Amino acid sequence: MIRKFDLVIAGGSFAGLACARTAALRGLKVAVLDAKKEPGARIRTTGIVVKEASDDFDLPARLMRKVRGVRLYAPDDRALDLHAPGYFFQATDTAGVLRWMAEEAERAGAELMYGMRFENALEYDGGVSLPGLHARFLIGADGARSRVAEHFGLSRNRRFLTGLEIECEELGGFDQRFLHCFADSAIAPGYIAWVVPGLGVTQIGLAASKPRKPDLSGLLRRLKAFCDVRRIKVIERRSGLIPSGGTLGNLGTRRVMLVGDAAGMVSPMTGGGIHTALHFGRRAAQLASDWLDDRGPHPVAALKREAPRYGAKLAMRRMLDMAPSNLLINTLLMTAPMRTLAQRLYFHTRASDGIPFEDRAVEQEPPKQTVTLHLI
Ligand SMILES: Cc1cc2nc3c(=O)[nH]c(=O)nc-3n(C[C@H](O)[C@H](O)[C@H](O)COP(=O)(O)OP(=O)(O)OC[C@H]3O[C@@H](n4cnc5c(N)ncnc54)[C@H](O)[C@@H]3O)c2cc1C
Repeated sequence: MIRKFDLVIAGGSFAGLACARTAALRGLKVAVLDAKKEPGARIRTTGIVVKEASDDFDLPARLMRKVRGVRLYAPDDRALDLHAPGYFFQATDTAGVLRWMAEEAERAGAELMYGMRFENALEYDGGVSLPGLHARFLIGADGARSRVAEHFGLSRNRRFLTGLEIECEELGGFDQRFLHCFADSAIAPGYIAWVVPGLGVTQIGLAASKPRKPDLSGLLRRLKAFCDVRRIKVIERRSGLIPSGGTLGNLGTRRVMLVGDAAGMVSPMTGGGIHTALHFGRRAAQLASDWLDDRGPHPVAALKREAPRYGAKLAMRRMLDMAPSNLLINTLLMTAPMRTLAQRLYFHTRASDGIPFEDRAVEQEPPKQTVTLHLI
């Protein structure tokens, strides 16, 4: 028997689950297929969420930990502290966030089919036929190496960063208020290495622009200055590809559309794609439902108009891909223009208030009052 859906989504991660929830809330009959056995299995991301994403999506605070500043290290270990008033990043229990998103999508009415891989389908005028399923519209939210893009001859990501991470039992030695970022072309050519004080764990990772490879052993050698690396207890290892070529050109056909990493919607500079996956996952659902039910504009054209273009960030990515020498990084990183650039990259357009991080009180003490008691 063929089961009929309005919308089938291949990929049940950030983009796919945000899409599924919104589409189901709008009354579409929705199915999500994912090759993983359950939501939150085989995580391939550090999972840092920018403030805007946790604001827009009301993600549960119990699954996140605020990190307010960035400590950026040059190869010679000099460090620069960056922060902006009112801004923070959220380290997440990523598996927990994805499980929560899956529950929310299910509660809205979407049917989740984990352990089912999208392999092939047939598109015709009225929809898309998949093995055992029929969809009026298909969304490919199946990540950097999208099978949906490949099968339907859509644009595919060609430029990548290769990311590698270990999640460890919580480590001392790192100031918990900061994301610790290491600019070092010897170990992370084209990108950076990082130590994230996470939710009861410490995440240590790095990425390099492909075909170069990140050097995790080199990073651990560098971290000897901060902690006893022999005592690191690894809980989990992760690796994955981060698209770095910007939003793709051909995002769909009449009945098929790509979103999230599958569409290349990742900042080529920071490698951050969770916020765009959540935002455009939800938009894809709105656009598909407007088209299917209300004769709205075609979703592919509308998504293409709204999608980020990353103009200046793509130009900067090309420069970083050349992996500037550590000598050059040591010379430039502490200069005022580089500080401004780093501030803009990490905190978008927010400027620092110039108050040293240590001196900024997060909570203000209530003013002291003198209370006079009048005895009757
Ligand atoms: C090492 C690393 C660290 C990162 N750190 C950050 C970070 O800290 N902050 C940030 O914002 N971004 C980060 N990113 C990028 C971020 O993880 C992605 O942009 C984000 O996960 C994209 O979400 P998505 O839903 O589009 O795709 P994905 O999260 O990649 O999900 C794709 C889903 O599709 C499924 N799938 C794949 N093929 C098929 C198929 N054929 N059939 C069915 N299902 C399929 C997969 O199982 C997966 O669940 C990082 C990436 C990497 C690799």
